Amino acid sequence: MLNILFSAQPPRWFEYEAPLNAAFVAAGLDVDLSRDHAPDQTDYIVFAPNGPVRDFSPYTRTKAIMSLWAGVETVVDNRTLTQPLCRMVDDSLTSGMVEWVVGHTMRHHLGMDAHIHGQDGVWRDGVFPPVAAQRPVTILGNGALGAACGQALHRLGFPVTGWSRNPKDIPNIRCLHGDDGLKGALAGAEIVVLLLPQTQETEDILNGDTLALMAKGAFVINPGRGPLIDDGALLDALDSGQIAHATLDVFRVEPLPKDHPYWSHPRVTVTPHIASTTRPETASQVIAENIRRGERGEGFLHLVNRSKGY
Ligand code: NDP
Repeated sequence: MLNILFSAQPPRWFEYEAPLNAAFVAAGLDVDLSRDHAPDQTDYIVFAPNGPVRDFSPYTRTKAIMSLWAGVETVVDNRTLTQPLCRMVDDSLTSGMVEWVVGHTMRHHLGMDAHIHGQDGVWRDGVFPPVAAQRPVTILGNGALGAACGQALHRLGFPVTGWSRNPKDIPNIRCLHGDDGLKGALAGAEIVVLLLPQTQETEDILNGDTLALMAKGAFVINPGRGPLIDDGALLDALDSGQIAHATLDVFRVEPLPKDHPYWSHPRVTVTPHIASTTRPETASQVIAENIRRGERGEGFLHLVNRSKGY
């Protein structure tokens, strides 16, 4: 019998208890899932950063921490964490992100706002949106989410560039990497999507210099993390027209403070960190499969590299 501790905010327990138990049975695991296991009796922790466990040092027999979240920036530097940490890669989380990114890309690509907000009785039939093939899109972050969004945008006809830390070879995506590749990835991009993790290296990756590399009047879409953007530089670029519109789902402070200039800026769209989320049915299967692998000595999937921070 494996003792699995569920450590997340209380409402999550009621969403996850049944799907997790069903997934453990389906994976052939004999599990006691609880919110109350003693630390020295806990084999695995299903974990969200805002749950009760903050100090991992008493969890002496715990074999791994299974994060419910894809982003691990709030736990990766926890000095008490010596156990392996697995982040969430979940088909439903990915689908949600693909739909959100494609939707907001299409909004800007087609110039939908002009017609949704501009019905003044004047028939302006001279301006057509370009086709996708004429609209280069760059995704900073070519991982589980970035690459999936890239494939979906490619299927719609957009020329897609993906930028990562390490070299990659992904069909349908022009892959660039490292500091040297960043300039080429941003040069002339008309839509830039941020799907990087929050680390020391990625903070302020969009700043005055990098925003200036994009095509004049480009669009920024950020479902990654707030600190990826130098907010002052983005506001300057919006005011100068270098950036035509920014659609932002994530912020340095969440909820975004009521007096933040993003709320009232006419060319900023704020969404409240809803681009995607982990879904209990599919995420439970991912966790059960990972624990099954751990028990069989097959190695955990989606292991976080603690030195890289993601
Ligand atoms: P992955 O770890 O799969 O991908 C991260 C990508 O970023 C990789 O391609 C990685 O490169 C690249 N990267 C990391 N650091 C650097 C760097 N210094 N320079 C260049 N590239 C870098 O993560 P996911 O795709 O699963 O998730 C991405 C982020 O999306 C999460 O960290 C989270 O912050 C955010 N997110 C937001 C949600 C929302 O609702 N708004 C929901 C879920 C996630 P390499 O491949 O070479 O390692």
